[in-house]
Amino acid sequence: MTLRIVCVYPDLLGTYGDSGNAEVLLRRAAWRGIDATLTMSRSESPLPEGDLYCLGGGEDGPQVLAAQRLLDDGMLATAVHQGAQVFAVCAGFQIVGESFPDAGGAIHPGVGLLDVRTTKGSGRRAVGEVLVEVAPKESGGLGLPTLTGFENHAGVTELFGQAQPLGNVSKGIGNGAGERIEGAHAGNVIGTYLHGPVLARNPSLADELLCRALKLEVLSDLDDTREMLLRDERLQQVSALTR
Ligand code: GLN
Repeated sequence: MTLRIVCVYPDLLGTYGDSGNAEVLLRRAAWRGIDATLTMSRSESPLPEGDLYCLGGGEDGPQVLAAQRLLDDGMLATAVHQGAQVFAVCAGFQIVGESFPDAGGAIHPGVGLLDVRTTKGSGRRAVGEVLVEVAPKESGGLGLPTLTGFENHAGVTELFGQAQPLGNVSKGIGNGAGERIEGAHAGNVIGTYLHGPVLARNPSLADELLCRALKLEVLSDLDDTREMLLRDERLQQVSALTR
């Protein structure tokens, strides 16, 4: 099998280098000798069939355009119903949900793949470093080490239905809807507010996505010395912050 990774609309949803998430997935597959391709699928083209789709953050205007194109295109929803995995960051997280606001506060429909809805927050934008303690496997969580990333969003996201939080926020704001939770996941879809690119900072999350897409329980080990140095540096600096 060739693992088909698709970076969705990097021209609209590529803030903070989030397209790098798809590249991390490609590299971590290739380093293990797993046959994988990456398609950077721009918004003017039909979305190709894939096994693992990545959506990144975006500014309010491009976000509305991206959601509309995805709804018109239809491929993302079809692929998910056929078993493809989705990893969505910030604007992408909001888009895969039920609805989200534009810059003026008007509500737009999302693709409806995850039971979350986003409204405009009444406070300040959530900006800064975030640490997330991921829910353990025993309670239906992903059971991963602490996630590190940074956030920059005005939207506040609440979960309903099948959606489970990715974890609890120990630094930063996260979803911002009262409880200190971050991200959401259900079925084949994982969403988070974390930029970084978050998969470069959190290789265990990248490997979780690869396992899901390849339908494997475990992957062979990689030498993650440099990734761990980056993580340790971030974790130490952020733990020292008072926010
Ligand atoms: N426009 C969205 C918000 O501000 C998402 C921002 C982002 O992707 N960084 O909530």
